[in-house]
Formats: sequence, structure tokens, C-alpha cells
Amino acid sequence: MFHDFLNLLYPPSCHICEKELLKNEQILCTSCLHDLPVTRYHLYNDNPVQKIFQGRVKIDKATALLHFRKKSGVQQLIHDLKYRGHQEIGKFLGAWLGEELSGIPAYREIELVLPVPLHKSRLKERGYNQVEAFGIEIAGKLDAQYRPDLLLKVNAMQTQTSKGRISRWGKIEQTLEIHRTEELKGKKVLLVDDLVTTGATLEACAHKLLEIENINISIATMAITH
Ligand SMILES: [Zn+2]
Repeated sequence: MFHDFLNLLYPPSCHICEKELLKNEQILCTSCLHDLPVTRYHLYNDNPVQKIFQGRVKIDKATALLHFRKKSGVQQLIHDLKYRGHQEIGKFLGAWLGEELSGIPAYREIELVLPVPLHKSRLKERGYNQVEAFGIEIAGKLDAQYRPDLLLKVNAMQTQTSKGRISRWGKIEQTLEIHRTEELKGKKVLLVDDLVTTGATLEACAHKLLEIENINISIATMAITH
């Protein structure tokens, strides 16, 4: 009832064109939804997301739901998710991509869904990991577990030696750390993130995870920037 009351005061509007939504619409109006540039990359091998990582790190499958272009509706969506607290957008995109991936045998074998970790200071400032709702929905559709507790970003003091004589503490560096190694052994893992551009962050995460015996890593993002 409270929800209905809020809707009366602030009727939900499309995150892209800002038109008031109809009862059967959520997040986007039907017209903006149909205009979204979907990649359908998960249907193809050697797709552009997989190509980003070729020769850099061993990735099994990789895909992105949407194409991201500057000043586009997709940019608006990701902005509302990251900076305006609209986690329902991540949920919406995750349910959508998860549904598509659940129709592909290689993705159906995934056992664990891991978000690219945010450092806890960033988590505190934002209040949530923008990838969480996306990851939870995908995990649900694939009958996998969403596990944000296995790959973490932590502070590490970096030792610097100056001229081979004076050793001192240098700047604080953020590094990746794996927890509960045994739970990752031999597992098929899906790493999820919002955007893939150069792939550097995902590559670092994959490199770290590949320290684990017989792990198999795939990647899924909300969008790709080219
Ligand atoms: Zn619209």
C-alpha cells in the first residue's frame, strides 16, 4: 500500500526518456527497451568480449549484454545504477542476461558467480556494490551461488627500498586476495562487472583466481564500451 502511495506521488518513469511508465512496464518504457543495443555475443564464439582477453589470460566464455556508447540510453542506465542508487537496474539487467545465459549449456554449468570486488572504503562511500543485484539475478537463473566473499580487494603496504640502503613503508596499494581457496578448487566461475573497456580489472581478477587448481573462469558484464 505504501508502495502504491509512493507511486501516486512519484509515478515511476523511464530511466532513459523519462516518460511515465505504464503498469506493465518496469525500468524502461517499451520503446526504449526495444531500442537498447543488445550484443547477443553469448551466442557466438570468439566474440569481441572474448577477444579482449585473448593472449592475456585464460577465459572460457565471455559476454556483455549491451553496447555502451557515450550519451546513450545505456550510459544513462549505468549512471543511474552507479551514482543514483537505482539497484533495481542491476537486478533488471541481471535477470535479462541470466535468462539468456540459462539457455546456453556452457553457462548452465557455472557453479559460482563472483563480483569484481570493490574496496571496502569505496563500498562504504557508495553503500552498495553496483554489481551485486546483477550478479545475484544471474546466479539465480543459472542455479549457481552468488559469492562476494571469495575474491576481495584489500590494502597492502608496499615496501620501497631507496638506493638499496634505506627501507621504508611506501604507499598503500590495493591488491586482490582469495578467501576460502578450497571452495574455489575445480569450480566453474562467472566473474561479473558493470562495464568492460580495456578489460584490465577483469584480467587482474582472473589472473588472481587462476592461482586456484582446475578453476574455469567465464565473464559477463552489463555492457561493453565498443
Ligand atoms: Zn523510454
